[in-house]
Amino acid sequence: MSTATATSVSLAVRDVHLAFGPHQVLRGADLDVARGGTACVIGPSGSGKSTLLRTINRLIEPDRGDVLLDGRSVLGDDPDALRQRIGMVFQQFNLFPHMTVLRNLTLALRKLKKLPEDEAVQVARAQLDLVGLAHKAEARPAQLSGGQQQRVAIARALALRPQVMLFDEATSALDPELVKGVLGVMADLSAAGMTMVVVTHEMGFAREVADTVAFMDAGVVLEAGPPAAVFEAPEHPRLRRFLSQVL
Ligand code: ADP
Ligand code: MG
Repeated sequence: MSTATATSVSLAVRDVHLAFGPHQVLRGADLDVARGGTACVIGPSGSGKSTLLRTINRLIEPDRGDVLLDGRSVLGDDPDALRQRIGMVFQQFNLFPHMTVLRNLTLALRKLKKLPEDEAVQVARAQLDLVGLAHKAEARPAQLSGGQQQRVAIARALALRPQVMLFDEATSALDPELVKGVLGVMADLSAAGMTMVVVTHEMGFAREVADTVAFMDAGVVLEAGPPAAVFEAPEHPRLRRFLSQVL
């Protein structure tokens, strides 16, 4: 996955506010991810982690604040173009069930990247090979394990050559024995230099793979720093309480 290194960017979320009706969900969230870095976002359910990811790739528009790629705001960009630069992987895979694995990958390459069929197939097969699923190209999603489906979803996002990858609890829906394989693909991607934001409950992954761990609570990043600082010397009482519940 060496191509990830050449194209990755720095990502910054600046003072992002967002309300759903009367419900203020993001209250000035800030996050910095270095070029090629991996930030893991941890925090209690309902704290705004998924909403934060969705504002980064503009599935939701923030009310206030900014999202910067290499110092340039993405808020004026065409959302469809932006989603080629920022890939996202969800808890529930979101593969098209009626299409083969290969077609799940080639569809976006043809529609968004306008690649001709033969080139799309070539890119898709190469990407499936990188996640160890070249032999499943002709299978339907339902014929795969959850872990394999999630690796297909990751390959589908990577096939578009994004500069940033967002993962929203990508392993939370998996049977325990399948989690490791998916986390392995994510760790490889991080090591290859992809810029990533990973919302996760996997504290071992955060400790080993992240450069930055950001603790979200009530719509803000309350504390962020290197894993050693966040896990071994948490400053905020709410972070200490959260860690005592999950570790
Ligand atoms: P987390 O991912 O940390 O569990 P979310 O970002 O999913 O948190 O949600 C934060 C809060 O925003 C929750 O209270 C949730 O109910 C609310 N919320 C999320 N999406 C919507 C939406 N589309 N409409 C209204 N409320 C929402
Ligand atoms: Mg969530």
